[in-house]
Amino acid sequence: MEQGQMRRIASLDRDQARRILVPGGAGYIGSHTCVELVQRGYQPVVVDNFVNSSPVSIERVCQITGTNDIPVIEADIRDTKRMEAVMREYECEAVIHFAGLKAVGESTTDPLNYYANNVQGSLSLLDAMESAGVKHIVFSSSATVYGTPVFLPYTEEHPLAPTNPYGMTKYTVELMLNDLVASACDINAGILRYFNPIGAHPSGKIGEDPNGIPNNLMPFVAQVAVGRRPHLNVFGNDYDTPDGTGVRDYIHVVDLAEAHIVALEKLMASPDSFTVNLGSGTGYSVLDVVKAFEKASGCEIALEFAERRPGDLPAYWADPAYALELLGWKTRLTLEDMCRDQWAWQSQNPNGYLEDQ
Ligand code: NAD
Ligand code: UDP
Repeated sequence: MEQGQMRRIASLDRDQARRILVPGGAGYIGSHTCVELVQRGYQPVVVDNFVNSSPVSIERVCQITGTNDIPVIEADIRDTKRMEAVMREYECEAVIHFAGLKAVGESTTDPLNYYANNVQGSLSLLDAMESAGVKHIVFSSSATVYGTPVFLPYTEEHPLAPTNPYGMTKYTVELMLNDLVASACDINAGILRYFNPIGAHPSGKIGEDPNGIPNNLMPFVAQVAVGRRPHLNVFGNDYDTPDGTGVRDYIHVVDLAEAHIVALEKLMASPDSFTVNLGSGTGYSVLDVVKAFEKASGCEIALEFAERRPGDLPAYWADPAYALELLGWKTRLTLEDMCRDQWAWQSQNPNGYLEDQ
């Protein structure tokens, strides 16, 4: 963004900016989406209970965008009255809903907590929206709703059969949203099925900051690079894939954040609801990602081949055609960009946001 444009947005009068409630806005994808919102002249109103994030991320969003006016409300989305009060106080026009728990393994050991957070939390937000008269919601769903591939790439018409409680919570919220929009109420919904978001803002100021040992590939690789982990365990090298390791469709978090703005504007412009894949359409193996990260960072990533991780699928990737048709959106950043920006974040913040807390 040009400096002049940034100053213009930063100096927007608070009453002129259109306000968007962002539950889970302090998290990984939420903070990147807040950057895009501010840069396009919206005012994000963040609600987060910081169960998996730090308020420092929003301070960094302010640094990146040159604004000092992002309200942050520490609250749980299950507090329906509070959600309604916040929507009314800030006159929010729409909700971009990121708040939820996302660790697949943990969801199998603590399923009720996942249903309570992700399903009850979403129900609470929808109740609050109805009471406060907020009409548009963008929802973070996941490719995990598809389950074992019947065909690839996954199109939006692929059967839905999640294989773990986390995926079931996303599926359940999708059903709830579909029933709601089919009813007489005038809420419309954009359901976004993300593939594998990685990378960080190119400034290196915000990025993914998992608690404890990362479950996901990219943060694990990046922590090996900065010496926080001795080596990467590659879960399985005997899959029926080109090099035997698992294949996924990785998407740069900045591309993903941009898609939220396009989806939001589509919802605000027309009454229709939609469900759409957000992926690149290309699959990369674990070893492809490791090689690209080594090239981008100049660090060698020690790795060991380990057993397959229970519940992992061998390979899947998105059919991104409908996103282009519906939203005019497609990914523009490459695996090299994802690795470069992940490294900028990890090398500048080896311990995540911890040092600033
Ligand atoms: P994240 O954990 O970084 O962000 C989620 C945020 O929600 C965190 O800030 C957390 O503190 C907050 N939160 C959780 N429960 C809450 C509650 N009850 N009330 C208020 N705040 C609460 O995760 P992320 O990677 O940014 O994911 C955002 C959303 O996208 C999640 O719903 C996730 O399930 C979904 N998603 C993520 C991925 C991925 O790989 N990162 C893939 C598909 C879908
Ligand atoms: N993976 C791995 N080692 C790790 C974490 C992940 O080999 O420490 C593999 C995993 O088996 C899968 C791919 O990397 O093939 C992506 O896994 P991730 O957990 O990032 O995403 P998801 O499984 O949710 O698609």
